[in-house]
Amino acid sequence: MKLSRFPRLNFAHLPTPLEPMPRLTETLGGPQLWIKRDDCTGLAGGGNKTRKLEFLMGQALADGADTIITQGATQSNHARQTAAVAARCGLRCELLLEDRVGTEDPDYNYNGNVLLDHIFGANLHYFAAGTDMNEAMAQVAEQLTRDGRKCYVVPGGGSNPTGALGYVNAALELAQQANDLGLNIDCLVHATGSAGTQAGLVAGMVGARTDIPVLGVGVRAPDAVQHANVLKLANATTAYMGLGEIVHTQDVQVNCAYVGEGYGLSTAASLEAIDLLAKTEGILLDPVYSAKGMAGLIDLVRKGHWKKEQQVVFLHTGGSQALFAYRQEFGVPDYRA
Ligand SMILES: *Cc1c(COP(=O)(O)O)cnc(C)c1O
Repeated sequence: MKLSRFPRLNFAHLPTPLEPMPRLTETLGGPQLWIKRDDCTGLAGGGNKTRKLEFLMGQALADGADTIITQGATQSNHARQTAAVAARCGLRCELLLEDRVGTEDPDYNYNGNVLLDHIFGANLHYFAAGTDMNEAMAQVAEQLTRDGRKCYVVPGGGSNPTGALGYVNAALELAQQANDLGLNIDCLVHATGSAGTQAGLVAGMVGARTDIPVLGVGVRAPDAVQHANVLKLANATTAYMGLGEIVHTQDVQVNCAYVGEGYGLSTAASLEAIDLLAKTEGILLDPVYSAKGMAGLIDLVRKGHWKKEQQVVFLHTGGSQALFAYRQEFGVPDYRA
């Protein structure tokens, strides 16, 4: 697979480390657990959107854009990473934030990723839950185009075939690391939302015949919808690479049993996952994505889904900057009283 023919900027810190998690492995008593640190991609606190943005921003600059427009939830990690890359490239950045969670908590509305978006100099726009965000982006683009700007619209989560190339590359990177370590990976587990991460990984794994299964743990949509979204984008990605539609339905595994009441809303299991990773491995998860992905992994380990000698890798997709938006859920004691 030849990725070098696509425009790309190189700002991610790659390869990200692949590390064992001995204390978590021992605590859970199941398979050997590893972590692929895509929370350490370097830019703006890191996260999975940085790999996608290398290709998306490469394309934006190739197209001569001077303005980047994208959208996400209020505490979008994608918006934060986009704001940082735009700043780095000297481009104007318009972030359209959807109030998906619906809370008046000032930490949620102004701290965490929102604070960082502001520091990176992005222009923030508020939208009520349920707004057609693609239509909203089209309207902002139209207005700015009339004002003489050259706009590049990045879809939510950076999830289209261009963005997914970042995770085709990540699949090849992980396969290389596993080969170098003599590690036979039985499963790669991660949180899946707008589907670009899993679509790129599956496209890369299938395209390169690595034989590493990928399990996406859903954070929003039900199983059938998430499966269809990943499969469709994975095939669009292999087609974009000139390989044809080579991804089959059984190549895509999703489990959306850990969403709880909805997107961005914590569950007892996601809070336990944050607590456990922090206290066994000193690693921070985020409440919206990686904690739900890890909650799925923990539950499957406890249910005996894998044998003790099997090797399971968790892809840490980042997002711990959002912890500051969820302060009230962690019950910091009033230690000054
Ligand atoms: C966006 C995001 C995901 C989900 O990735 P998709 O490509 O949207 O499926 C997972 N974890 C974190 C921290 C994210 O910000």
